[in-house]
Amino acid sequence: MSYSPNPYTFDDFLEWRNQADYYAEDLFFQKTVKFYAAGEWEYLDRAAREISGKVSFRWKELAEAAAVPEKQPYITHYDGHNHRIDRIVRPMETLVLEKEVFGEKLFSKQTSPFEKLVKMYLIYQNGEACIACPLTCTEGLVALLEYYADTPELRHILAHCKEGIDGDIAIGSQFLSEIQGGSDVPANLVEAVEEEGGWRLYGDKFFCSATHADYAVVTARPRVSEKVGLFVVPAWLPGNREREIRNSYTINRIKWKMGTSELTTGEISYNGAVAYPVGPLDKGVANVVGIVLTFSRLTVGLTSAAVMARAVREAMAYSRRRTAFGVTIGDFPLVRVQMEEMEALAQGTTAGAFKLYRDFLGLDGGLKKGLNTDEPLEMKRKRFNIRQLIMLQKIVSAQDCTDVVRTAMSVFGGHGVMEDFSALPRLYRDSAINELWEGPRNVLLTQIHRDFQRVADWYRPGDVVASILRGGEPDTITRLASEAEALTALPLLAAPDKTVLQTCRRWDAFCTDLTHGFQAIARAEVAAS
Ligand SMILES: Cc1cc2nc3c(=O)[nH]c(=O)nc-3n(C[C@H](O)[C@H](O)[C@H](O)COP(=O)(O)OP(=O)(O)OC[C@H]3O[C@@H](n4cnc5c(N)ncnc54)[C@H](O)[C@@H]3O)c2cc1C
Repeated sequence: MSYSPNPYTFDDFLEWRNQADYYAEDLFFQKTVKFYAAGEWEYLDRAAREISGKVSFRWKELAEAAAVPEKQPYITHYDGHNHRIDRIVRPMETLVLEKEVFGEKLFSKQTSPFEKLVKMYLIYQNGEACIACPLTCTEGLVALLEYYADTPELRHILAHCKEGIDGDIAIGSQFLSEIQGGSDVPANLVEAVEEEGGWRLYGDKFFCSATHADYAVVTARPRVSEKVGLFVVPAWLPGNREREIRNSYTINRIKWKMGTSELTTGEISYNGAVAYPVGPLDKGVANVVGIVLTFSRLTVGLTSAAVMARAVREAMAYSRRRTAFGVTIGDFPLVRVQMEEMEALAQGTTAGAFKLYRDFLGLDGGLKKGLNTDEPLEMKRKRFNIRQLIMLQKIVSAQDCTDVVRTAMSVFGGHGVMEDFSALPRLYRDSAINELWEGPRNVLLTQIHRDFQRVADWYRPGDVVASILRGGEPDTITRLASEAEALTALPLLAAPDKTVLQTCRRWDAFCTDLTHGFQAIARAEVAAS
């Protein structure tokens, strides 16, 4: 008897996957765009089809080629002539991808907010790829400067990020976290000192992603001030980029991390870096949270929706082609249930992200104005809902995304964890990072609880629930409204005794249910359209 190789192949699945166009395949996403951006639909549909032709093929391949271990970015501290350069070395695939994606000019005045959103949703389906974080950081920097660019330097930076200079579109980053605490920004130690009519920074930042960026939004405490201010720090002063002379700071190390590995996260020491103050210096924390982190948090929701959509699409296609025990695996009831649950989460998060963004766009002044404005009550309440939903969506969708990608991997069985079988393991690791940055879960749960308590005299917790879940199932609204009333009356930050711990468990579950309720309503609205 002679050996004959096993003829089994995955070619059928691969043939589908190689031709899958993210936008064309996704009828639910098309409906979502049509429903929430109705006035721009025809134009958006054309723009989405055009960019999807790049994202789903060429950019997907570039992202995947850059993600292999041998292409990991690294740092070269010195050149051959003993000059400190701290050069971030990234593979050619990343450089080409970055040039093409940023070349779309998503932050240009020619690009409408919804066009930007639709394009970002499609781009994010390729995972971090050293694109997602820099994109959202640039978006936050642009939004910040649109409020506060009141000097020639800041106006130049704004133009560089939005329209580009001589074809070069600038990239932003945001450095808040220090070694003693990332959540506790008011405890920052990096110091801003006024010298010779300008500001310079001194001290260490410990989590600096998009280390290659042209400009960083940096929190620092002006000497002799109790409050943290906000600054924009160029990576290079004019004329020094080509000579690789950084703006009086060193990148001490690039972190070794489990996800978003194509993106460097550095540890930086400022030693007199020139910094441009942005906005009132005693309002740095309010501005970084109200403007910059608002966009990053919205992006975490959008990225999570995008990644879930891709994971579900690929798991669904695989489940229709793979057989076990003579049955197509998608026909096993247990697999079917998983697919349905994953699809509901992916669609709910997608519809919820677009609905929230539409409402956010309708908010005069964004979230910058804080909770207690002198606006009419109706407007204050609307602003409050959106502020809470941005935090809720951030924590719930990031966690859902990790769960969905893990389940999607399980549909692929053992192949699900193979790095070169699909992008799912990479998306899974990226998703775990999304849970941590831009406000970890416990921090935001605490903030939401504090917010509910702060406004209770003009916005009852039960009314918040009823407003966020307008159009939803009456039983769910009644249950969650009464839970909100009960939990808001209890302390969350008190000593961790039995009652407080139970309140924390219930508050976490309440926040998850409230978010899922909002997303389910959005999903139903889109489905019925
Ligand atoms: C890959 C990666 C890249 C990053 N890139 C950047 C970057 O570019 N710029 C930047 O500024 N930061 C960046 N960060 C840092 C990130 O924002 C912080 O890790 C995050 O803010 C948490 O801070 P921490 O790590 O110091 O944790 P801690 O603040 O020490 O928190 C630890 C735990 O305590 C909980 N906790 C803290 N405070 C409270 C509270 N008040 N109530 C209840 N629970 C609380 C947290 O939820 C968490 O579970 C990055 C992080 C990662 C993982």
